[in-house]
Amino acid sequence: MSASISVVRGDLTQQDVDAVVNAANERMLGGGGVDGAIHRAAGPELLEACRAVPEVSPGVRCPTGEARITPGFRLKARYVIHTVGPVYAGRSSDAERLASAFRSSLQLAVENSLQTLAFPAISCGVYGYPADEAAVVAASVVSEQDWDLVEIRFVLFSDSVYDAFDSAMH
Ligand code: ADP
Repeated sequence: MSASISVVRGDLTQQDVDAVVNAANERMLGGGGVDGAIHRAAGPELLEACRAVPEVSPGVRCPTGEARITPGFRLKARYVIHTVGPVYAGRSSDAERLASAFRSSLQLAVENSLQTLAFPAISCGVYGYPADEAAVVAASVVSEQDWDLVEIRFVLFSDSVYDAFDSAMH
């Protein structure tokens, strides 16, 4: 059975799903935006769990386009899947790197036998990715294969980003 795709307005940190996806950075030691909100809601144990993720090069725990999983601690979500989207540069490689962040997160959820996964608009905040373009990338990754999940949910904070994702998924 195919995963159901839903698009909602709301706060990612409050989602009752198996995992929420964090729009993290390569260091994985917290930041602003949704990353900061997830760390505040999950509690200080999340930072310790992130620190324990091995570095693959100095200061890099999760290269752009890859994903790592930790427990969710005080979140309703049992897990946090941390991924790193690209900083928007207006280059053709942006879309492939953003697609890789979505795809790596979905793959990690499937590998861990999770059923429900909630995404924010990765790269659409501080990283400057136009929401309409990011939404098209997200929709294309979701339709790449029959993901072995029950629900893939996109949780968007602002009306304009919600509208972009809602129209791309239909
Ligand atoms: P990035 O650095 O990848 O651009 P940001 O966290 O700056 O990540 O922004 C990504 C998106 O997440 C933006 O659209 C921002 O408005 C949104 N966002 C921020 N906080 C939350 C939250 N609590 N729930 C859902 N989305 C959020």
